[in-house]
Amino acid sequence: MVLKEWVGLVTGLVISSIVTAQNAVDTKIKRYNKIGNLKVDTTFNSAYLTDFMIPYQEFADLHNCKIKIKSKKLKTTMAARPHFLSLLMGKRNRRYVILVNKKESFKGVHLKDVPSDARVGLFAHELMHIRDYESRKVTGVMERGFQYLSQNGKKKVEHYTDSLTIAAGFGQHLYEWASYVLHHSDACEEYKSFKSEVYMSPVTILSQMESTRPRP
Ligand SMILES: [Zn+2]
Repeated sequence: MVLKEWVGLVTGLVISSIVTAQNAVDTKIKRYNKIGNLKVDTTFNSAYLTDFMIPYQEFADLHNCKIKIKSKKLKTTMAARPHFLSLLMGKRNRRYVILVNKKESFKGVHLKDVPSDARVGLFAHELMHIRDYESRKVTGVMERGFQYLSQNGKKKVEHYTDSLTIAAGFGQHLYEWASYVLHHSDACEEYKSFKSEVYMSPVTILSQMESTRPRP
């Protein structure tokens, strides 16, 4: 065998062993399902996914965004964030993560307890965070990060995100979510008062829906 053939053979063997190893890993622990540009944690219940797709399908501008739904221990039910390193790689390479809380001892609202309509409202709200990030340059996204450091800044961002959700046609679902958290959930009082401090109240959601309703 000449050297060229040896090199070809060795390269072939190396590539096929990498592919086999990769397949073995994929079949052993399949952590994510791919749906277009979405990567969904396999622990994300199929009922949640059906509800998630209701607002997601409406937001065509987000279908080109790489979004990963992942579970993590959080101090809230869900959170949407840009992938930090991807921010440095240009807007076209940006990636986002939507996190779902998996901390069992969390005293707030667990996704599994949330009624379907309210869940749609929460998902629409998280997707509006991504629409907001997408409308911003890196510096604007960083600014959002800084705003999160103060209660007042947090309130501004969350109220803005709630109004985007209403403008996108998910006001009724958002209302269901906000009133579930405050009036029907098992969340502790401390969490409920944090929610009413930072997010739009059910009454404000209804009045904003009313004032933005197109007149005949
Ligand atoms: Zn939010």
